[in-house]
Amino acid sequence: MGLFSSKPPQAQAVQRAGIDLKCDHCAHDLFFQGEAQLHSQVATLFGLEGWEPNATYYACERCGRLHWFRSPESA
Ligand SMILES: [Zn+2]
Repeated sequence: MGLFSSKPPQAQAVQRAGIDLKCDHCAHDLFFQGEAQLHSQVATLFGLEGWEPNATYYACERCGRLHWFRSPESA
């Protein structure tokens, strides 16, 4: 039992809104997922005030391009 019980991050296929996510730079389809909490100033900057300031990002395994989504997914 260590501090980190989960497996090391592994790139995986991602679906948002029922559509397979594909890197918009290199067209790769495996991503590392992460979560971020936006500061309210940042949320305001993006016109997201009033939304839960949580975001999920998917980093392309191949080129590192970040694809941001608000979380949880609003489908
Ligand atoms: Zn890519």
